[in-house]
Amino acid sequence: MARYTGAVCRLCRREGQKLFLKGDRCYTEKCGVDRRSYPPGMHGQGRAKASEYGTQLREKQKAKRYYGVLESQFHKYFEEASRRPGKTGENLLAILETRLDNVAYRLGFAMSRAEARQLVLHGHFLVNGRRVNIPSFLVKPGMTVALSQKSRGLDKFKNSIEANSARKAPSWLVYDAQNLSAKVVALPSRAEIDLPVEEQLIVELYSK
Ligand code: SF4
Repeated sequence: MARYTGAVCRLCRREGQKLFLKGDRCYTEKCGVDRRSYPPGMHGQGRAKASEYGTQLREKQKAKRYYGVLESQFHKYFEEASRRPGKTGENLLAILETRLDNVAYRLGFAMSRAEARQLVLHGHFLVNGRRVNIPSFLVKPGMTVALSQKSRGLDKFKNSIEANSARKAPSWLVYDAQNLSAKVVALPSRAEIDLPVEEQLIVELYSK
């Protein structure tokens, strides 16, 4: 399964904003964007104003990087989003948001989406009572996502849950703290997705 293996903070610096890809570190003074608030590379501090295409491209790259998705998968999501009724851009974000690794992150079981992806791959989560180890698995309304019984005693999860206790699950996930599970009650609306991206620009880019 392909994934980006380069320096993660470069991705945030390229987009000019924090994408919170590294968990704890993102909230400290070690954050790459805070320390060097200009794009990476030898021309990072001297780039000219972006063209219309450049602006659209940046929005797409930002969304991809935020969710840790590579181009081919992202493009498939876009095609799926265009087939669904409603606004394509909002559908695209809803699809990305309902990936199982993102759900695990939103529920506070991991400090970052990258970590959540690893945890899903290692089989720590159940969907409707069955183990699912595919990070790109898309949850749907009516499904229940839970931490497996065996994983509940692991320090890793205890620490993450404690560290993320202030982070509230979005309203489309009804969290059950006793059972470390959540029911998907709806598809996420745009207002519930905190991704700082103008999704319409992504639609325009792919529509060229
Ligand atoms: Fe991005 Fe986090 Fe690195 Fe800051 S520390 S640049 S938010 S990945």
